[in-house]
Amino acid sequence: MNTMKIKKGDTVVIMKGKDHGKKGKILRTLPTTGKVVVEGVNEKTRHTRPRRGGEKGQRVKVNHPVWAANVQVLCPSCGKITRVGFEMHDGAKSRVCKKCKASLS
Ligand SMILES: [Zn+2]
Repeated sequence: MNTMKIKKGDTVVIMKGKDHGKKGKILRTLPTTGKVVVEGVNEKTRHTRPRRGGEKGQRVKVNHPVWAANVQVLCPSCGKITRVGFEMHDGAKSRVCKKCKASLS
């Protein structure tokens, strides 16, 4: 099984590829493929042609998925690029920042 440490809504930094260094929010996670869709990252323009009369051709910007392995979480508490750890609290697993130990909701 593919466990992903990042979740929708996390702020991440891209570590590899043409968008490396970019920050963005996770819009969607794709656990089956191990990819994530990050806001403003891997943006591609899709051109749509007019299909019916009255409709215009458009250029739509779409964010394409990037490998989850190439992104790292930016901790909201300490503001550092960090790894995600797990801690047990009352029998429930919670995600914590490896650097400042603050919990990442
Ligand atoms: Zn932290």
